[in-house]
Amino acid sequence: MNRQEQTTLKSDIDRHFLKLALQEAEKALSENTYPVGAVIVDERNNIISKGRNRVHAQQDLTAHAEIGAIRNAGPLILEGKTQRKHFTIYTSLEPCPMCTGGLLFANIKRVVWINNDDEGFGGYRKLRDANIFDKRFHEVEVMEEPFHDLKVKQMALLDEWELNPNNIKNLRKSANVQ
Ligand SMILES: [Zn+2]
Repeated sequence: MNRQEQTTLKSDIDRHFLKLALQEAEKALSENTYPVGAVIVDERNNIISKGRNRVHAQQDLTAHAEIGAIRNAGPLILEGKTQRKHFTIYTSLEPCPMCTGGLLFANIKRVVWINNDDEGFGGYRKLRDANIFDKRFHEVEVMEEPFHDLKVKQMALLDEWELNPNNIKNLRKSANVQ
């Protein structure tokens, strides 16, 4: 297999798992919560766990997709850290500061996301570029927005979320809070 074929294969694999992350995001929206989904895989591309946002479903403000995936992985995450395994997380949106911290703690070595989050709480790039925890961030490979068509789909989910009654702006409006 030549290098170009290998690159194509890797890209196909990335696309496959990002689509699964997107499916989790769609499920989250159907549960009337923020549409983000995540999938963790090991170095052989076995799925370790999936997660999706459950903030409104569980009334838990920390129930983000990436944290969910880390929790759902159970002991495998600690085992992976002990054995220096190489896990990848695929997520539909750039991780927030909380999840970025979670990924560093969980020793995730590759982070791939569908959509940068410049308007919301996107935090991965801000923290990485702040010259803090450099040693940790250096160990992580990042891939931002590799597929435009998947990005369009995630953006459509976010647009739909704007209209959802559970969106904080709509909750405030209905509670008459400015
Ligand atoms: Zn998060």
